[in-house]
Amino acid sequence: MSRALHIFYQNLRLRDNPSLVEACHNDSLLALYIHQEGGRWAMGSASKVWLHKSLALLASSLKDHGIHLHLAKGDFVKKVLEYVHDNQITDVYFDVPIEPGLFNFAEMKNGLEKKNVNLHLYFHSILYSPSEIKTQGGEPYQVFTPFYNATKKSKMPDKPLQVPSKFPHNIKAETLDLEAFHLIPKIKWHTDFENVFEIGEAGALKTLEAFLKKRVHDYKKDRDFPNLDGTSMLSPHLHFGEISPHQIFHRLDGHSEEPYKRQLIWREFAHHLLYHFPKTPLKPLKEKYEHFPWHKNAALLKKWQEGMTGFPIIDAGMRQLWQTGWMHNRVRMIVGSFLVKDLMIPWQEGADWFWDCLVDADLANNTLGWQWVAGCGADAAPYFRVFNPYIQSVKFDEEGDYIKHFVPELARLDKKYIHAPHEAPKEVLEKAGIELGKTYPRPMVNHQEAKDEALKIYYKWNA
Ligand SMILES: Cc1cc2nc3c(=O)[nH]c(=O)nc-3n(C[C@H](O)[C@H](O)[C@H](O)COP(=O)(O)OP(=O)(O)OC[C@H]3O[C@@H](n4cnc5c(N)ncnc54)[C@H](O)[C@@H]3O)c2cc1C
Repeated sequence: MSRALHIFYQNLRLRDNPSLVEACHNDSLLALYIHQEGGRWAMGSASKVWLHKSLALLASSLKDHGIHLHLAKGDFVKKVLEYVHDNQITDVYFDVPIEPGLFNFAEMKNGLEKKNVNLHLYFHSILYSPSEIKTQGGEPYQVFTPFYNATKKSKMPDKPLQVPSKFPHNIKAETLDLEAFHLIPKIKWHTDFENVFEIGEAGALKTLEAFLKKRVHDYKKDRDFPNLDGTSMLSPHLHFGEISPHQIFHRLDGHSEEPYKRQLIWREFAHHLLYHFPKTPLKPLKEKYEHFPWHKNAALLKKWQEGMTGFPIIDAGMRQLWQTGWMHNRVRMIVGSFLVKDLMIPWQEGADWFWDCLVDADLANNTLGWQWVAGCGADAAPYFRVFNPYIQSVKFDEEGDYIKHFVPELARLDKKYIHAPHEAPKEVLEKAGIELGKTYPRPMVNHQEAKDEALKIYYKWNA
């Protein structure tokens, strides 16, 4: 009699889940999620909120098929070995995440071998195998376009699978209550998340369908404007594996859908980079930036985190992040550039804040994004490119609708001054009910001076 242990991790779904499909071919099945606390990349606060709901929904879907989702807490490998031992498991099924540090692979493999247990591993969180997409010289790509072209020449990603047609007998074992994970914070700062997202596998599918029906054809035109619903909002669903990239990829056929597919390949690029360069969440890919003279400054960092910089587009972005657990990609680039170039604060501090606040916090994508803005990563923005927050604001939020939504104290200001309230005449500010320095901050730095100072340092470093 074969007894399978299926470990759920970043594949919290029933559809297109190859490890689950294979596990269901056994005589009986134990479904398990292990929550490992601590470690440098322990889950951030917003991700925990998402995880709580997602696990509850997964448990309910499994229950419909007679399977109980068991929950355990502690060291990942120890728990796997414990469950294997206590439940006479013969086969373990696991879709391995790309992010490093979750578990020691050799320890798990040896532990299972000693018990004569078969280990079945899957890598279905990405579309292509990192060992296949390589340069002609056999090296990992560090520039996006050739990587993208190489994926086009590669074997098509697998077609998505259905929900397993038959679930085996449920193995009943020891389990914790979801509440024992303590994922929900005592202070309810996250209550808006569920107004923005429908968490879980069903929510992911609905979100994809709505995007394909209404927005995918305008994606190229709309994706850079934060006041429009121009992007898919699938990032947290993808991170937690409530939907697989394969499920999305195979729904994109037409030419007009290519720009969206390209962004999925950016995700792929980020994951391949993390696979090949697992130290990059902490260290720059371009080693010469390892000892770059950033300025640590807790007071400036706090103003940025709180959305109180006096630059409306930046404050809107940082407050969107806090309120909704998500921030528009264009604005992520603007706030990122401001932190590392205008304030010269290390990119890792921005990455940490995002890690804690984003519901889509993802080690691969976050690392790529932050190293891109800091100019120290793969295919990064050139070091001399400093985003001008005023120009970006006028270009991508011309009417100021996004700013007015997230920075309501500026809501009565005319569009002429919404991007730079400190340039408004006194009477205009008075009429809009704004007192600079009191109801809304003055700019925390002079952008032109900050840019000149940053460029002096960057030029010297790159000379
Ligand atoms: C500083 C910075 C930090 C970031 N941190 C994260 C993060 O922690 N998690 C995360 O998922 N994304 C991150 N991104 C990438 C991007 O901002 C988000 O993926 C995107 O905003 C998610 O919204 P969406 O699903 O509507 O994207 P869409 O535009 O609809 O794109 C579809 C999918 O493609 C992928 N994608 C899109 N843009 C990128 C990109 N630039 N890099 C990698 N993948 C991409 C995402 O999985 C996304 O869900 C970061 C970007 C920057 C500049």
